[in-house]
Amino acid sequence: MMSMEENKKIYDVMILGAGPAGLTAALYAARGGLSVLVIEKGIDGGQIAATDKVENYPGQVLEGESGESLSKRMALQAERFGAVKVQDVIAEASLDQEVKELRGQKETYLARYVILAMGASARPIGCKGEERFKGSGISYCATCDGNFFTGLDVYVAGGGDAAVEEAVFLTRFARKVTIVHRRNQLRAAKSIQEKAFQNPKISFLWDSVVEEAYGEGVLQGLVIRNVKTGELTRIEADPADGMLGLFGFVGNIPSSALVKGIVDMDEKGYIQTDEDMRTSLKEVYAAGDIRVKNVRQVVTAAADGAVAAVHISAEYQPYV
Ligand code: NAP
Repeated sequence: MMSMEENKKIYDVMILGAGPAGLTAALYAARGGLSVLVIEKGIDGGQIAATDKVENYPGQVLEGESGESLSKRMALQAERFGAVKVQDVIAEASLDQEVKELRGQKETYLARYVILAMGASARPIGCKGEERFKGSGISYCATCDGNFFTGLDVYVAGGGDAAVEEAVFLTRFARKVTIVHRRNQLRAAKSIQEKAFQNPKISFLWDSVVEEAYGEGVLQGLVIRNVKTGELTRIEADPADGMLGLFGFVGNIPSSALVKGIVDMDEKGYIQTDEDMRTSLKEVYAAGDIRVKNVRQVVTAAADGAVAAVHISAEYQPYV
């Protein structure tokens, strides 16, 4: 239903999310001659905006370039070809009609095609006290919060690429970084593992999870549970420090709640697509970390975005 929006611009494509998938889709769709709107709720770049270094994106050889600067360049490139960007939080979506509607806090946006590129966000660590100490000892972003923990002891939950890479980054600030991993082997790529094993500031608590976070106002202690023996160990902040840090990198959850029940998903909430990035709904595509796939990297997100945009450009029929 179009209702009060009769005079509103109807874009050819609107893209929800300005991470590598969304921004690449915007670049390709704009270069394909389509009018493009990108809607982002926060800052550009999605998860890489909070990544200190992106070393595995082809062509990424500038010394010291961060995920944030890479995403800024992606956004600039898409805008140079005419993509329009707005910041808004979309609350509702009507996608089963010819002109699709995304209703945001600021405005309603209309387009013929939609690309869902909302990505994923950090999964909670799952320990007691997690909510209480978010922002006062517990964080999910080393680039954003690492310097608050200068000279302190820091714990990192997880054993994947993110946990190990960010643990290495945190050694710039922390006195000591301990990786708490639920198995006795890391999941992270070997090249990333080697950096951690060689770093004298990093140690490991194997077969362990964080059971509880506690403290008076700030995070002052952790209870660690050995998953094999069930043994509980209390770790107290050095009294001279007054607090310690806990960073969670235990994987991600897809940001797909908006379209639950609208497009097909797997049991974890990742959106199902065909290899051209079409979802179960006509003229609605999905790209990047939000979709069911095996490899979630900047380069695969960008590739998804390009594939979606190329197929939309080929399919698109202007109104006559
Ligand atoms: P991930 O690869 O899914 O790893 C999550 C880690 O957290 C795993 O080691 C997992 O343990 C552990 N874990 C999961 N649930 C847990 C729980 N409830 N309690 C304790 N530990 C738990 O996630 P990620 O490291 O965030 O990476 C996500 C994606 O981004 C991956 O595809 C990754 O390759 C990519 N990424 C790439 C780079 C890079 O290439 N430089 C950097 C960051 C991320 P198990 O190992 O036992 O399952």
